[in-house]
Amino acid sequence: MIEPFDVVDLIRAKRDGGELTTAQIQWLVDAYTRGVVADEQMSAWAMAVFIRGMAPREIRDLTLAMVASGERMSFSGLGKPTTDKHSTGGVGDKITLPLAPLVASFGVAVPQLSGRGLGHTGGTLDKLESIPGWRARLTNDEFMAQLRGVGAVISAAGSGLAPADGKLYALRDITGTVECIPLIASSIMSKKIAEGTASLVLDVKHGSGAFLKDPEMGRALAETMVRLGQDAGVGTVALLTNMQTPLGRAIGNANEVRESVEVLAGGGPADVVELTLALAREMLALAGQPDADVAGHLAGGQAMDAWQAMIQAQGGDPDAALPVAKESETVVAERDGVVVDLPALPFGVAAWRLGAGRARKEDPVVHAAGIDLHVEIGDAVMAGQPLYTLSADDPARFARAYEALEGALRIGDAGEPVIDGGPLILDRIA
Ligand code: URA
Repeated sequence: MIEPFDVVDLIRAKRDGGELTTAQIQWLVDAYTRGVVADEQMSAWAMAVFIRGMAPREIRDLTLAMVASGERMSFSGLGKPTTDKHSTGGVGDKITLPLAPLVASFGVAVPQLSGRGLGHTGGTLDKLESIPGWRARLTNDEFMAQLRGVGAVISAAGSGLAPADGKLYALRDITGTVECIPLIASSIMSKKIAEGTASLVLDVKHGSGAFLKDPEMGRALAETMVRLGQDAGVGTVALLTNMQTPLGRAIGNANEVRESVEVLAGGGPADVVELTLALAREMLALAGQPDADVAGHLAGGQAMDAWQAMIQAQGGDPDAALPVAKESETVVAERDGVVVDLPALPFGVAAWRLGAGRARKEDPVVHAAGIDLHVEIGDAVMAGQPLYTLSADDPARFARAYEALEGALRIGDAGEPVIDGGPLILDRIA
């Protein structure tokens, strides 16, 4: 086959700040997927994009070219509206667990294709795999049958959706080109557009535990992704949310499932409940139910019924005991005062080192490992009061977790400024 473009010309064009045409971008993505463009050439191009940026039209072309690199699912025969949610990830972010069944309890289908955790942010599939018997892999027929019946499915994304993104994302990970808005936006949205959902709510986080620390970077990413979704015919809304401190009190896998079940039972930490309700309202409004009584379905048990059906449909036993770690240690306050700093990142890193996360894709996670917080930012504490408990199967892991937590939780005097990162929900982009 005679190739219509020379990749070196396209790298040079981007290096010098030019714009690539639609045909050039389509060819580049296709040729990279076919192996005609080599990894080192694609790395050079990604670095040129990192430095020079991309015009909105180029970002759209890149997204659609990555969608076109694989299969595209369709829910048109389902007979129900579909809606999905994507979070840019954070520490203690278990929101998908109560959210998917809550939204499904209103007769709306939630096709959630999720990932596993890598680094300090946990993965939804890892959390759910703490439930005895639950399996992440479903055939296409099982997936559709569960969407028709239960309404909510959380399962592993197959490699057939946007394979060009899979290849490019792995390359970016090892070439210092991840933190780039055009590349992040096209990566996330190509998978969501290929997934076939009719509408999408994005939870774009900022703060110490988020992928992008700065709220203005979060806003720019959210605006780019909302535009991409809408241009592709997917009704898309984003909430800009605070990830300065961990979400809720549980950080890990089994303990995050436990906390999610508390929310589904009408309790749970206020921030987890608030964010679950806000995202559910947005998803249901996009699916044609702007007045849905979401709090009523948590209090009334409908969301819990949908959760149990969702877990059982994937082989899990929602009533089975969750794993408990072999070892635990509790850290107490050294003085009286107020919790003035509780940054998410060190707690995420510590939970990861305890075994809740993985360093390499193929590593297993320890489902019972993690951290349970006993205080929140702004709480008054007394000397000797428990602050948090670390859990692990292997006691040798505690030392490295304590290293990550050195100086992280700070107790100050009453009246000292509290580093809370501002409101839980900073803005809405539509
Ligand atoms: N998540 C993705 O799927 N892609 C990115 O580029 C960053 C986060």
